[in-house]
Amino acid sequence: MGENNQILQEMIKELQKKLPDGRPIGITFSTEEKKYYYDTVTGKIITCDDLAYQIVEKILDGKVNEIVQLSESENLIESIRNIINVIEHEKIFALSKFEKMVDFGEYEDLIQNQLEQLTLELTEKCNLRCGYCIYNEACEKNRDFGDKDMDEETALKAIDYAKTHSGKTDTLHIGYYGGEPLINYPVMIKSMRYALETMKNRKLHFAFTTNAVLLTKDKCKELAEIPNLSVTVSLDGPEKWHDFYRRNMHGDGSFHQTLQGIKNLVDAFGYDRAKENILFSMVYAPPYSEERLEETQKFF
Ligand code: SF4
Repeated sequence: MGENNQILQEMIKELQKKLPDGRPIGITFSTEEKKYYYDTVTGKIITCDDLAYQIVEKILDGKVNEIVQLSESENLIESIRNIINVIEHEKIFALSKFEKMVDFGEYEDLIQNQLEQLTLELTEKCNLRCGYCIYNEACEKNRDFGDKDMDEETALKAIDYAKTHSGKTDTLHIGYYGGEPLINYPVMIKSMRYALETMKNRKLHFAFTTNAVLLTKDKCKELAEIPNLSVTVSLDGPEKWHDFYRRNMHGDGSFHQTLQGIKNLVDAFGYDRAKENILFSMVYAPPYSEERLEETQKFF
């Protein structure tokens, strides 16, 4: 028993070493059948047995020293060993969301000179009406689709603002958001070019998320001239599943248009750049099934 206690204390120390200085950011939750830990930093969901669940809760509460009270040392040793294993392999509890805590005295400088990211909501419009969209009329907590576009003057002013307030930042990230940002493509490309012209000595990264339906060859050719541009395409898997939700206002599926848009972009970017800079975002909404997951995995 004494030996077990010593091993347990060593395991707890080992666990402590694997955890970040601040409190890890994540949340535990359970369904009728199982218990889980959601790791906010990696986005991973880990299934936990009862004891692991309680240990994870102690970790999240910053009370690692209280783990020793949860069960017999033998069970705890085994469970902590498993958790350390998962930390090493899945990189959970990896880092605190906050890179640094800023003193009140530093806020002024942070606001004036250290802006890292600018997001331009280019339009409220979208060419699709996906069933799960947060801008759907059914989603009461968000606005509905609107008909406003950002004008060029506002977009360029925002770029000027970012330039002025990011003097001490290594890399400035400029993102575009909507609705479907390509609906306001002229303002998007103009503001990208303007940022590159006015911040020649700065490291700029551009990014937008799109349903890709409007990614014509001409647009893709122009976008390929923008350095450090990442494009995230919403693609839910094979046609049957993609079109289940991702339809236009007439109810027609968007799969083939999305795929054509991706092809145009890959052609314009070239394979190597496409591999690095075209990302996919998939929504997995009901109906859930193993068969669907397999089909989707095979598709990607
Ligand atoms: S493409 Fe995006 S914004 Fe448009 S309806 Fe679908 S989920 Fe909503």
